[in-house]
Amino acid sequence: MTTKLYRNARIYTPVMGGSSARRGTEQGEITVWLSGSILVSGGRIKSVGEEASVSKNLSPADVDMEIDLGGAAVVPGFVDPHTHACFAALREGEFSMRLAGRSYLDILKAGGGILSSVRKVRGTSEDELYAFSKKVLSSTLSYGTTTIEIKSGYGLDTEAELKMLRAIARVGRETPQSVVPTFMGAHAVPEEYKTKPDDYAALMCTEMLPAIARSGLAKFCDIFCEDGVFDVAQSRRILSRAKELGFRLKIHADEVNDLGGAALAGELGAVSAEHLLAASDAGIDAMANAGVVADLLPATAYSLKKPFARARKMIERGVPVALATDLNPGSCFCQSMPFVISLAIMGMNMTPEEALTGATLNAAWSIGMEKEVGSLEAGKLADFVVLDGETPAVLAYASGVRPILSVWKRGERVA
Ligand SMILES: [Zn+2]
Repeated sequence: MTTKLYRNARIYTPVMGGSSARRGTEQGEITVWLSGSILVSGGRIKSVGEEASVSKNLSPADVDMEIDLGGAAVVPGFVDPHTHACFAALREGEFSMRLAGRSYLDILKAGGGILSSVRKVRGTSEDELYAFSKKVLSSTLSYGTTTIEIKSGYGLDTEAELKMLRAIARVGRETPQSVVPTFMGAHAVPEEYKTKPDDYAALMCTEMLPAIARSGLAKFCDIFCEDGVFDVAQSRRILSRAKELGFRLKIHADEVNDLGGAALAGELGAVSAEHLLAASDAGIDAMANAGVVADLLPATAYSLKKPFARARKMIERGVPVALATDLNPGSCFCQSMPFVISLAIMGMNMTPEEALTGATLNAAWSIGMEKEVGSLEAGKLADFVVLDGETPAVLAYASGVRPILSVWKRGERVA
């Protein structure tokens, strides 16, 4: 097993310190070691802290390789907890339609949006899906994403959803990133069920969810709870069945309208609720009480020209906030966690420290990866990003560029 000592780093990391994601004032608490060092063995962190303490009991024979990080800021590898990064074609034309004034839900109603991705995915082979996703993932890696969640949800029938999940599993095996798969058969009502959405909800419960559970290809089940997609009653029915079958739960909630999705996330004990642009005060309180992580996606609000989610209110009320790209071919083709962090700081008024926790440790909690990644602590994977600056604030300060010198996964340089 190779042992490496990374030296001369300004280390900034959130730390665990509890049995839940970081909430309230904890979200902004970052541990800093200005002459920091990380000792890594077999891809995992053995110790981390001020260089003097890390190397105190080390003899030269204990270390196979020393790497000087040049005094740059080092943060945990970014965790992107919400993406739809498995698809078959881009939808740039729709972006232009939105710029010309058509709304997202309008385009969806006319058979565009998610449904056009569904037609493409159904007609694409598993190999092609894999190749397309792998290319997208290598771009996210260059922006520092070392762990990523990917949802299915462009198949909308059992076979096509399984095809997507197999492609996602293969991407997970063949890229350096840790990949967490989510089943999202309830991403939209498929065209063939347009007039009978309850029948599709029934199919989800009786056929699709049991088949996906048997395959073992998904850890989470997610649903789009929204006007014109799945209402609260249908969402409750599908997610309750998913819970019975052993899935952990996520909900796309209150993105466009306040339907009560955030409150449903609290009621069902979902791990996270996503988007939340229109979440009510009562919904935010229900999430705080149940310990639901808010996965906020400011690049989607930016791309849809919508007001950002109320991150400050959520932090004040004790909701742990995580940040994600929402990388997808329609509403937000964003591959950069630094851009998301920048929007969180400049648009949602989060501090650089809160945004860093959101993009690392809280994001890891929201995909059940908190024991493996999300902070630089002994025992976790040696995943980190070396920034082109002295503090994490450079992620917003150096806007519109890639303020990253290098990306490391399991102690190996990957970008
Ligand atoms: Zn989404």
